[in-house]
Amino acid sequence: MRVLLIEDEVHLREQIARQLKDNNLTVDAVADGEEGLYMATEYPYDVAIIDLGLPKLSGIEVIQQLREQGFDYPVLILTARGRWQDKVEGLESGADDYLVKPFELDELVVRIQALSRRRSGQVQLLRCGDLEMNLDTRVASRGGQTLKLSPTSWRLLEALLRASPAV
Ligand code: CA
Repeated sequence: MRVLLIEDEVHLREQIARQLKDNNLTVDAVADGEEGLYMATEYPYDVAIIDLGLPKLSGIEVIQQLREQGFDYPVLILTARGRWQDKVEGLESGADDYLVKPFELDELVVRIQALSRRRSGQVQLLRCGDLEMNLDTRVASRGGQTLKLSPTSWRLLEALLRASPAV
């Protein structure tokens, strides 16, 4: 999955980029709205993460122009201000989701993956040999037989399958 990140705060941009890469996502990170819009229209992204307060072109303007030009991939906005007006304006301009700073990097990754999944309509299936986990229906099975798992076992098995084939 290829992600575009437009965020002008250096530290946060680097943190997010590292977190996404650690989760095996391909990331292009830029620092202002103008370059962001250029990248956003030039390359095929699956998801974009756009800060609202950006130099040169605001996040809202970037999203509006993207949508006007017919780019419909999911956009998650970041807002420092936490004012509900910002979120509403962002969502009205065509964003699909938002996070208010400060946020957990893990949550950002989960939201990004969910946005991409919703778009592709893919069923999330983890598999190893005859062991299968369907993350949408939350049914696990082995050799076609449904497994009964406690929530903790479910999380453990999911973590192991995600890490597979690593030990
Ligand atoms: Ca900013």
